[in-house]
Amino acid sequence: MIDNYKHKGLRKKLAETVRQKGIKDEAILEAIAKIPRHFFMDSSFLEFAYQDKPFPIGSGQTISQPYTVAFQTELMEIKKGDKVLEVGTGSGYQACVLAELRAKVFSIERQKKLYQRTKEFLPKIGYRSIKVFYGDGYKGLPAYQPFDKIIITAGAPHVPEDLLKQLKIGGIMIIPEGKGGVQVMRKITKISETEIESENHGTFRFVPLLENKADD
Ligand code: SAH
Repeated sequence: MIDNYKHKGLRKKLAETVRQKGIKDEAILEAIAKIPRHFFMDSSFLEFAYQDKPFPIGSGQTISQPYTVAFQTELMEIKKGDKVLEVGTGSGYQACVLAELRAKVFSIERQKKLYQRTKEFLPKIGYRSIKVFYGDGYKGLPAYQPFDKIIITAGAPHVPEDLLKQLKIGGIMIIPEGKGGVQVMRKITKISETEIESENHGTFRFVPLLENKADD
């Protein structure tokens, strides 16, 4: 895998594009300028790696658009050491952005092949602290709860009850919620065991959050 001055230049430009679209958090912009996004894609698609667009990564899934990754990350208000659950590991790119912000990342993926590929790939490019799990994100990771933050990177028809339970009081969940092709980006703050506060942050399009694990 080659990472040269040309890739670095393209990444800096990508970070600038994301800044111009409204992302202010410098640490997030630095992460985008640092992470070699072309490593997360097939070599035949290299030229697309540094456009601000989602892209297919196999098994019918996509690597999210960098702006969307930055937007969700900014809403999470990550502090160093935060324990974060990501639902939908996919390529692992979002997990790396969180790791760059010094979060402790636990990420879960329902597609076995993607899970295996990303679990092997992340340590190879230097992200050894990210923990990747194969399972159904609707159920979260009960053995590792509670989490300071939870991010869902697929379109959810509803807020999964198990995930709310696994969020600390005072914790934040970022979830694109909606049935069909369009979702509303919701920022949910858990106020107490029985109360939440919710804000809406515009509409986005994600691949769907599906029930149960898949064997392929
Ligand atoms: N965060 C990813 C984006 C992946 S797209 C990235 O940075 O590349 C959404 C991912 O969610 C897909 O890989 C899909 O397989 C996964 N997914 C969908 N439903 C799921 C579920 N119930 N549990 C875990 N992962 C799920």
